[in-house]
Amino acid sequence: MKRAFSIAALLLFSFAALAQSSGFPLLDEYVEKWKEGQQTFFGYPVNEQSALHSFYEWYLKTGMDVVNMNNAGDPMTDTPEKMSSHLFEREVIEFFAPLYGFEKDKVWGLVSHSGTDGNNHGIYFGAKYLYNTTQKMPIVYVSDEAHYSNLRLCDLQNLEVKLIKSDLMGRMIPEELEKALDPSRPALVVYAMGSTFKGAIDDQQALNAVLDKYPEMAVFRHLDAALFGGYLPFTEHSYMVDRKIQRFDSIAISGHKFFGIDSPCGLFLCTREVYDNQNSFNVTYLNGNMRMINCSRDAVQPLKFWWLIQTMGAEKWSEQAQQIMECTAYLKQELDKIAWPCWVNEHSNTVFFKRPSEEIIKKFTLALGQDKHFSGPLAHIVVMQHVTKEKIDTFIKALNESKN
Ligand SMILES: *Cc1c(COP(=O)(O)O)cnc(C)c1O
Repeated sequence: MKRAFSIAALLLFSFAALAQSSGFPLLDEYVEKWKEGQQTFFGYPVNEQSALHSFYEWYLKTGMDVVNMNNAGDPMTDTPEKMSSHLFEREVIEFFAPLYGFEKDKVWGLVSHSGTDGNNHGIYFGAKYLYNTTQKMPIVYVSDEAHYSNLRLCDLQNLEVKLIKSDLMGRMIPEELEKALDPSRPALVVYAMGSTFKGAIDDQQALNAVLDKYPEMAVFRHLDAALFGGYLPFTEHSYMVDRKIQRFDSIAISGHKFFGIDSPCGLFLCTREVYDNQNSFNVTYLNGNMRMINCSRDAVQPLKFWWLIQTMGAEKWSEQAQQIMECTAYLKQELDKIAWPCWVNEHSNTVFFKRPSEEIIKKFTLALGQDKHFSGPLAHIVVMQHVTKEKIDTFIKALNESKN
């Protein structure tokens, strides 16, 4: 009897495995590896609990998978392009606009290709805005702990950059900004929310106070909030990404980080005033004046974003934001308990600590850093939605055992 059962179970199991097989062994192996690795993907800021299953069901059921859509063109104009999802892209921007302190009728934005694409638009729009309103090219100020994309993009755009020293925890030092400032030129300031390795949040108010000392100097502030810009609006610290308080002109956020869209995309928002002071590119066949950098743009990502707004929305995102903050505190506390040197910035979900063994790094896909002020070699964990207390316990146990 028992044997009959197990044969039936075995048959069922093989059938299920067969049903999932692609017919390509290389691909099947790849899927298995991913599913296993996903559980302990701790070092990088992606939400491994994507909630798009129902979206894909809808997409296939309605036959949208055979439609080739493209969001080339401006999503914020009155006439959405045919065969695009501009309408939904615009709704996404209008949903997020008030969360970052933009007014609905004074915002411009798009669903970008990534956080980097958002920074590219922020830096490009900032430089053109400053040049077109002052006839002078700006100097870019950004901290030495900010994401490398900012520096790369300034290189790409041929902009002069002053890299500002940050403090031990990774925040731009206001006095260093002041020392570096050249008030005879406009200032394009990129604030990091947060910095890549230590998860530091630049103190916008303290840095703005430095800029305010030079009322004659034209200033453009871009907020690089790829990771923290996802969850901060859904916490009691939402003021940190509210432009009514912080006075930034544009902001970039990644869609695949906190929001868990299953492949890269992002949000870029700026004021209409910034948008209205860009260089004109009249493109007749797109029926418009094209400000954005890319021609063809993804039309499916805005649909996914829109779907998540309907199915998750502020309520679920608030719960998740609370969960990741709690789990971050928990990870810090458990590392302290085993006396493993560790640090975390305020409002950050990134805990950095003394670098563990090679084996632990591999097992939990940790990202590595280095800082002589913090015992030299370091590693970090970014506490995203899939980094639960249970998984943190597994990590701590492995780490503690590796000490012996
Ligand atoms: C991840 C990140 C980026 C890069 O964003 P992508 O979406 O990976 O291009 C830029 N800045 C910060 C602060 C980040 O966390």
